[in-house]
Amino acid sequence: MAKIVGLRCRECGAEYELQATHVCEMCFGPLDAVYDQAALKKVVSRSRIESGPKSMWRYRDLLPIEDSVNVVTLGEGFTPLVKADRLGAELGLRNLYLKNDSMNPTNSFKDRVVSVAISWARAHGFETIACASTGNLANAVAAYAARADLECFVFIPVDLEPAKVASISVFDPNVVAVRGNYDEVNRLCSQLVESTPWAFCNINIRPFYAEGSKTLTFETAEQLDWKLPDEIIIPIGSGCQFVRHRQAARELIEYGLVRGDRVPAFTGAQALGCSPVYNAFQSDTPDRVLPVKPDTIAKSIAIGNPSDGLYVNRIARETGGVVEAVSEEEIVEAMRLLARTEGIFTETAGGVTIGVLSKLAKAGRWKGDEVVVAYVTGHGLKTADVLTSVNGHANRVEIEPTMKSFREKVTI
Ligand SMILES: *Cc1c(COP(=O)(O)O)cnc(C)c1O
Ligand SMILES: [Zn+2]
Repeated sequence: MAKIVGLRCRECGAEYELQATHVCEMCFGPLDAVYDQAALKKVVSRSRIESGPKSMWRYRDLLPIEDSVNVVTLGEGFTPLVKADRLGAELGLRNLYLKNDSMNPTNSFKDRVVSVAISWARAHGFETIACASTGNLANAVAAYAARADLECFVFIPVDLEPAKVASISVFDPNVVAVRGNYDEVNRLCSQLVESTPWAFCNINIRPFYAEGSKTLTFETAEQLDWKLPDEIIIPIGSGCQFVRHRQAARELIEYGLVRGDRVPAFTGAQALGCSPVYNAFQSDTPDRVLPVKPDTIAKSIAIGNPSDGLYVNRIARETGGVVEAVSEEEIVEAMRLLARTEGIFTETAGGVTIGVLSKLAKAGRWKGDEVVVAYVTGHGLKTADVLTSVNGHANRVEIEPTMKSFREKVTI
């Protein structure tokens, strides 16, 4: 029996057969995967999940991959949820948690979505996997395509960070470096979908790709002993994962996996250097997300024309969350703050999330006992260059290899 029954338009509700497509022909709204909920209700349970693998695939019943499919996995997900007491003390939060998704196989959240997308594509006969990427997606796609023995084409902006380029190229995909920004790369790929038989993870097979995001919120609830937190802070690129996290919370409630029936407040984080969603959230017309030209060190979320932007604003408002943004200096400061207090080294996108968390905390958003979770979505080694270029490290001395030099130069 198939648990995925088709696709449905998020705007007009038009239904489609299961296929590699992501836009409604009637209204151009985005399409979402539709499950046989009644059938799932009979099988989904906490104990069934807890006896599953120690990866995001313990949530397989709630992912768009049928039971008979051999999944493409590198052990993604089930990343640590860390109670952040030292950072919490600085911010006046007694129940602050960090979901450390930099611990994934290619060191970002993207492994979740790509594992699902490539599993789906291979099961449906695709031989080539492709994507338009700001870096982390190409990294994950290249790794999982290698693992699955599939052809791979990744399209990236030409000015990507050197560390990201190296960690993509090592998997030997076909790399197309486009002289343009991400939005231009994405536009080109949207045209290529028509003329190639390829599965573009974030374009034609997006409805399945997006579903992988839910596991981040499923795991968070499980790791909080099957409770949803009061608020979740999420970095916004396209807004794709943000939308799926609310859906994940709804499913946890619907399937009786969590205590209570309250969806958390969902709060979005952007860099001021690329903040189309934040700009709209602050305006009188939050549904009108106007494109911007990105100019920020947070390149992995530098999307000037985010496809799910308006849904982010709707969900933030409906759940009592907000969308906030931080400056370039605040991003780097937050990366340092997180490292100094919790021993976690995150990339610039994580700096955006922690920057927004600390900005909101300082502005008095929370009383102190709320359970707040920040999603740390990528590893610091991906963007280590920003730490040397923005400002040096103050607690450093250089000495001769002698006791004398040590005594002279180092204060202990
Ligand atoms: C892609 C990405 C995001 C944003 O995800 P969207 O679904 O595009 O909003 C956040 N953080 C990191 C590290 C990413 O790579
Ligand atoms: Zn429609």
